[in-house]
Amino acid sequence: MLKLQNINKSYTTGGFTQQALIDVNLEFRKNEFVAILGPSGSGKTTLLNIIGGLDKYDSGDVIINNKSTKKFKATEWDAYRNNSIGFIFQSYNLINHISILDNVEMGMTLSGVSASKRKAKALEVLDKVGLKEHAHKRPNQLSGGQMQRVAIARALANDPDIILADEPTGALDSITSVQIMELIKEIAKDKLVIMVTHNADLANNYANRIVEFKDGRLISDSNPINNSKNQKEKYKLKKTSMSFLTALKLSFNNIRTKKGRTLLTAFASSIGIIGIALILSLSNGFDIEIDKFERDTLSSMPIMISEQAMEMTEEKMIELSNNDNMEEYPNKKVVYPQQPIVDQVLHTNVLDQDYIKYIENIDNTLLAGIAYTRTTALNMVSKTSEGYKPVALSMTDLNSIPVKINDDIPGVMEVNYDILYGHLPNEKNELLLVIDSKNRINDQVLEALGIDIEKEEVAFDKIIGTELKIVFNNEYYRQIGNYFTINTNFEAMYNSDESLSLKVVGIARGKEDKKTLTSGISGLFYTDDLMDYIVQINEKSNIVNIQRNADYNVLTGEKFDNTDGQLTKDTLISYLGGDSVPAMINLYPVDFDAKEQVLDYLDQYNEGKELEDQILYTDLGNIISSLSGSIMDAITIVLIAFSAISLIVSSIMIGIITYISVLERTKEIGVLRALGARKKDITRVFNAETFIIGLCSGLIGILIGGLLTIPTNMIIENLTELPNVAKLNPVHAIILIIISMTLTMIGGFIPAKMAAKKDPVEALRTE
Ligand code: ADP
Ligand code: MG
Repeated sequence: MLKLQNINKSYTTGGFTQQALIDVNLEFRKNEFVAILGPSGSGKTTLLNIIGGLDKYDSGDVIINNKSTKKFKATEWDAYRNNSIGFIFQSYNLINHISILDNVEMGMTLSGVSASKRKAKALEVLDKVGLKEHAHKRPNQLSGGQMQRVAIARALANDPDIILADEPTGALDSITSVQIMELIKEIAKDKLVIMVTHNADLANNYANRIVEFKDGRLISDSNPINNSKNQKEKYKLKKTSMSFLTALKLSFNNIRTKKGRTLLTAFASSIGIIGIALILSLSNGFDIEIDKFERDTLSSMPIMISEQAMEMTEEKMIELSNNDNMEEYPNKKVVYPQQPIVDQVLHTNVLDQDYIKYIENIDNTLLAGIAYTRTTALNMVSKTSEGYKPVALSMTDLNSIPVKINDDIPGVMEVNYDILYGHLPNEKNELLLVIDSKNRINDQVLEALGIDIEKEEVAFDKIIGTELKIVFNNEYYRQIGNYFTINTNFEAMYNSDESLSLKVVGIARGKEDKKTLTSGISGLFYTDDLMDYIVQINEKSNIVNIQRNADYNVLTGEKFDNTDGQLTKDTLISYLGGDSVPAMINLYPVDFDAKEQVLDYLDQYNEGKELEDQILYTDLGNIISSLSGSIMDAITIVLIAFSAISLIVSSIMIGIITYISVLERTKEIGVLRALGARKKDITRVFNAETFIIGLCSGLIGILIGGLLTIPTNMIIENLTELPNVAKLNPVHAIILIIISMTLTMIGGFIPAKMAAKKDPVEALRTE
């Protein structure tokens, strides 16, 4: 059944060649107990290793069941060791970090026997060697004799045809030795047992054939096979392979024996993950805050459409920067005229009635209001304690109330302002007084309302009902020849039936939670109806009709340059009499989603139009949020890049740790190989180890990173009053754990490959 033909084996170390086996011819019966005797160094172990397929012969052939092994592939040898051979070593070679049961099961595990079958069989052989009740102990909890019994049980577990024992009693006392020999003799009843020993007495007492070696040569054989019959044995082997689960179990148990180190390693390599987790949770949190801010506040910022808009598209920016491919510090004695950048990006929006119609046709559920700004002059006169005076209020003290376009939707004023007293204006002759967050108002506004501003405070009810007058152009201006001048009889104007009385009907203040939108806004608010009315009246008045044909500026009396100048006839008219087309339109969307739709609607208008005919708008909220968003993105990328460096460092560290582990587990590699594990399986064992470390470090990283968000949030809350900003996105957490595992596995890959390349014989020799 097993035949060695002219086997030669030599080892070369340091230029010196040692012939370990010389021309060995030896045949074994299917069932016998062969003892191999010989002095130390005579080649006994080498012979066993060659029979067991752990070592390769240089020349000759090993014939197993009539099959030559000359052309055996590595995996065939692995399967042969697993299926046909059971090894028993002098130093037991048990894997210390797994239970006795697992040790015995290992060979079966490698050849894919099911868990229940494995356990039953392992317990059966453990029972045979008298150790059934010790099955769940660790090898180092047993005596030497017991450990050797476990090794015997392991050798028997896979039902091999051949048991190879290398000085199995070499490390045992004589009484235990006898017990072990009895056990082996029992086994030899139905198997081929080849046992190396240098104890001639044991050999004589137990073996039924004694083969002697000296200096690598066979020198005697007590029972040689003379006429070898050709036994009709079929050669068949079951391939081995270790599942990743087995590899995980092996490595997990190994790691358990060095918890401290593993934990430290995992912690060290988790630092990068902690950093990235923290950065991601911060940036994620800020993104959410920005988004919330955008939804709450920025979305209610108006979309502005004015006569002049900035054309700030990306293409434009690129165009502007590329323009600049001019030579620096040229020697040429010339100058180049340059158009100001502002002019290059300035776009004139032609706002006409059609566009106003287009705007008014917008879905009225999308907007809280539309505010029109007109260049119409408001000629106002007030009655003060010092007499009748023209009112000169600055632009910031006079505001128009955005028009509410849908009764079911709260208007811009309702949403953003608290009405502290009175009510919102409903009529064209009603005014709203808006005061700032400290209830202050420009004293000129109060003066215009005829209130004594020497007082320290003015009660709300003293303001309600106060009034001023709007005087129309016809009365406000007076014509002297070709000149126009302002009338000086303000009392007459004030008391004229023609003038319109405006009354304060309410007092309002920006809501506390709308600070961003309303801070700094105060003054008198008038209705759009008032503006419409003024435009109508002035349209009919002489002064506008005259001005339409005039060559003079009524305000300065200067001759008006009709052909080319700043002040065109139309602006002059619109300044004086107002224009039914406003100079600026502000659209107030009801919320974030509505805003998107409004923008789409505005974009639709421009579709297919030449640039000069397009109406460009400014979305202030978007500019603010995209600015803060892109700043956040930039910071996040920089910080993650820094943390990534520590990830690389930790991968290298994992490589080193795995290498150390390979050195420590060399013996285990040898044992696994002897039991039939393939090179691939050994790689798998170490990959499993780094997998576990990677998983641990990922989990630790996420855990610590998550815990660190608590103090981080406390600090942020102190600084910004925003609670719970840092939030770790679960998707990020999972991705980080995967990254951690991938990086550690990459780090451990080379040592794992090195482990697989280890020569099993040498691996078994290491201590
Ligand atoms: P035994 O088991 O009979 O004591 P071995 O088979 O272990 O002897 O060794 C036979 C000879 O081969 C010895 O001289 C030993 O030094 C040498 N030898 C065995 N293995 C190696 C090896 N891996 N490298 C170099 N020499 C070796
Ligand atoms: Mg030996």
